[in-house]
Amino acid sequence: MTFLKMMRSKMTSPEMTRSKLAVMLVFSAALFPAVPAHSQVLDSTFARDPRQPVDQDYTEKIHKYTTDPSFISPLVDYLPASKTVPTPAKVLGDVSGAPDMLPYAEDVYKYFRLLEASSPRVKVFTIGHSEEGREMIVAAIADAKLLATAKENDARLAQLADPRTIGLDDAKARPLVDQSWPVYYITGTIHSPETGAPTALMELAYRLAVDDAPYIKYIRSHMIVLITPVVEVDGRDRMVDLYKWHKAHPGQDYPHLAYWGHYVAHDNNRDAMGMTLNLTRNVLDTYLGWHAQVLHDLHESVPFLYDNTVGDGPYNAWVDPTLADEWAELGANNVAQMLSFGMPGVFTHGDFDTWSPGYLMFLASMHNGISRLYETFGNGGADTEKRILQPDEYERTWYRQNPPLPVVTWSQRDNNNYEETALLSTLSYFSENTRHFLENFYLKSKRSVDKPSLEGPAAYVIPADPAQTNRQIELLKVLKRQHVEISQITDAVTAPVPAEKRGEKPKQESFPAGSIVIRMDQPYSRIADALLDRQYWAASDPQKHPYDDTGWSFTHLFNLKVVRVTDASILKAKMTTVEDPTGLAGNISGSGSVLAIENTGQTSLLSLVYKLKGATVKVAEKAFDANGKHFAAGSLIVSGAPDNIAGVLRDLSLDASRLEAEPSVPTHDVTAPRIAIMHTWLSTQREGWWRQEFDNAGIPFDYMSTQAVAKEADLRSKYDVIIFAPVGRASAWEIIHGIPMWNNPMPWEKSDLTPNLGRIDSTPDVRPGLGYDGLAHLQKFVGDGGLLITCEDTAQFAIDVGLAPGVSVARGDARVDGTVMNTAFVDRESAVAFGYSNAVPVISAGGMAFNISNTMSRGGFRSLSDPTEPFSDPYAHRPTGRGSVEDSDEPQGRKIAEAEPLYKQQPWEAKRLDEEDIRNNPQVIPAQLRPDVVLRFSDVKSLLLDGLLDKASGIAEHPIVVNAHLGRGNVLLFANNPIYRGETIGTYALVFNAIMNSQHLGHGNRAEVKPGGEATKADMP
Ligand SMILES: [Zn+2]
Repeated sequence: MTFLKMMRSKMTSPEMTRSKLAVMLVFSAALFPAVPAHSQVLDSTFARDPRQPVDQDYTEKIHKYTTDPSFISPLVDYLPASKTVPTPAKVLGDVSGAPDMLPYAEDVYKYFRLLEASSPRVKVFTIGHSEEGREMIVAAIADAKLLATAKENDARLAQLADPRTIGLDDAKARPLVDQSWPVYYITGTIHSPETGAPTALMELAYRLAVDDAPYIKYIRSHMIVLITPVVEVDGRDRMVDLYKWHKAHPGQDYPHLAYWGHYVAHDNNRDAMGMTLNLTRNVLDTYLGWHAQVLHDLHESVPFLYDNTVGDGPYNAWVDPTLADEWAELGANNVAQMLSFGMPGVFTHGDFDTWSPGYLMFLASMHNGISRLYETFGNGGADTEKRILQPDEYERTWYRQNPPLPVVTWSQRDNNNYEETALLSTLSYFSENTRHFLENFYLKSKRSVDKPSLEGPAAYVIPADPAQTNRQIELLKVLKRQHVEISQITDAVTAPVPAEKRGEKPKQESFPAGSIVIRMDQPYSRIADALLDRQYWAASDPQKHPYDDTGWSFTHLFNLKVVRVTDASILKAKMTTVEDPTGLAGNISGSGSVLAIENTGQTSLLSLVYKLKGATVKVAEKAFDANGKHFAAGSLIVSGAPDNIAGVLRDLSLDASRLEAEPSVPTHDVTAPRIAIMHTWLSTQREGWWRQEFDNAGIPFDYMSTQAVAKEADLRSKYDVIIFAPVGRASAWEIIHGIPMWNNPMPWEKSDLTPNLGRIDSTPDVRPGLGYDGLAHLQKFVGDGGLLITCEDTAQFAIDVGLAPGVSVARGDARVDGTVMNTAFVDRESAVAFGYSNAVPVISAGGMAFNISNTMSRGGFRSLSDPTEPFSDPYAHRPTGRGSVEDSDEPQGRKIAEAEPLYKQQPWEAKRLDEEDIRNNPQVIPAQLRPDVVLRFSDVKSLLLDGLLDKASGIAEHPIVVNAHLGRGNVLLFANNPIYRGETIGTYALVFNAIMNSQHLGHGNRAEVKPGGEATKADMP
């Protein structure tokens, strides 16, 4: 919707508030420059207190470091002086945004604590710690009176946040709205190379605490501002180290920030669904702990300030419509204010869709608040730089009437001017409309509780099922972190369940006692709904560049049955509250000295193996029955378990059965596999998600770079499994060669100058890659019987360098963008598939899929490359002649000569070879080395589960998990990412099964190798 349309529709609204009218007037003035200047009005809005002295030195430096007069505003072109409160210069040695200087988190905190010590208007709290133990803080800023009564205020806000406490009674909400101060939470530098926010927030805090300008006095007497100046505190300290190294080595290349947080980089801003990172949990707990109304996250990228609050469609389908209106209101006002100051390059529409709820700020949107985000221009450090913009960045568009300048000299101070001006003006607007926003907060909270009687659903039911309990617990842990209430029915319940297709009748479904119910009549129902429902992104959507994943259903990605129930009668069933979901598993039944743990695709079976030192652990190669229970292939049989086994099982959410004796079933022993996770120095983010899950699961591994692999000739003597998790669009060339060696070495290691580098891994020079030595070592490792696990670009690498004979990447033109898709297991007997049923949903980044072949089709011999399209009936084009289309033609006047029957090749199969193909053909892969397809995409009709899918025929039914064989070892290739953002719980076991059974993935006794070595299992129809 354009602004004009929006204004027109608002004009007709009877409840238009004065504040909204003011926005529109300011806004129309901005659109129509012929209207008399409004700057006088704005000048008086943001006028200084003429009696307050100014810090002249500080102010002079602000001007000195600002590179263009239009890059500053009347709000920040001075700094008020205080006799008692120190300015940021006290800690920084210079002003906020000064060139060539970045403070560590510790220094930023030191300043906030100085503020707390010198001003009754600032309080600082610890909100938790990072993965590496660094502190995270929040500062609360308001008049001393507001801070002194913050507890009472919070008690009122808590009632507005949970309207059940006042019986959803608007009359009771009214006085709470009137008496309460809203809370506005600002967070800085979650993305470590985006460096400006900490100093901008230090100075903002000073201004809010000290400045007596009427508008600032109004802010601090009408609302509480919360500031977390550094969100990614581990990454900040590494970034400051890196920047110091850069300043100490002028003219030299310096490495990119290899590690931001302990596990992930940019994706720390994609964790708001799974909530696996400490920073996400700390920010949400703070946000909800204060019952805040806004979460405003500061980023840096596009010129000069993009308030992406309004962004672009499609909007997330589960947000309250009032929120979309608040985005428009705040975004339009913010841009209007900045335009009135004459600051170029400020806009609020643009290339960001508000579909995925994975962003940190979106925690607010999913918890009845308002999410906001600024992208301010930044130089990735504090250097003042000439910046050359691209046409699409500086050209005027309908929503960017005063676009950025095409070439600028940009400084960190410019960045701080923009951030502070935008924040101060938006805080001012917010402070003048506190009742309006608190009213909205209450209304959104109330509608969340009213969900069952409004849009629905009434509840999600997770049926009690021992085969799913382990993964159910993982889901419930996420919901707990999201502050969602969890219930459990005490008796069986039958409820009508809506049909999946519109127009079809609902069916009755029974849920056993003990089933989990996520009631939608609770304040934070919206996040549960957004996570558990399905997503559909129309291929024809005008948004052609989804900003992030288009599908994420946790129901699918956790491989669970979760039932969306719209009939509200389910809410009347007898329920108890589940405080600790981990109590749902850990049951041991039966008696005897042998333990059997069924493989049901749990995330923690492999973890158990490492906890059972001294015990004998065997994997059942076939299914068996014992104690009246069925155990799938891949189940564990444990003798000599330690005394603390019950506690171990409970910790790992595993149920077990005691048996009198070992069942008679073929087994193999499992000893704790020795694992290395190999990373490049190109990028560590996607492997970081894998590393995190291994740490969480308590699975030990060595962490080594491709450079280390290049130096280790005998990898097999040290490791059973090497994991080469995705790098992220790296080519084989980059993996082998690394970064070009033309210039200077770039160290990533601990030194006096860089005390925070080198903690996770270190190198004197990040440039060299795997090299040909490393490649040879990997090849030898597999040849000697090791298992190499690859995924996405590293699977492509394995193919390109010849580690995966017979596997290639399918070339289709499918449109897939973070889409959840359906699959089918092909080789149900593969150990990789242990514990799974017929299918498991997977997430696909871009629609990667494989083809397999029984020959190497390159070289100077006959090419037998497999057709990828179409996999049609080979008899479809029979010639004109006698008989029907299903029958064969026959030449007349001679005996019938039978042709070899033609075989209809399926997209997941290799082309079957006949004598003609095999004769004198060195390209034919020996039977025992032909690749095995474990998992494939399902057919076109059933392929899409969640998100965007178009032109699917090129990938439908193609392999996505393939086990290739090389020498005595195996290379497992994933086209989907089985360990991704803490969201793909359902596919973890594919990786863990492979590791646990790494020495049992060969053809071995499973393949039927016929004399001549040609027909194998893969050849069977
Ligand atoms: Zn960012």
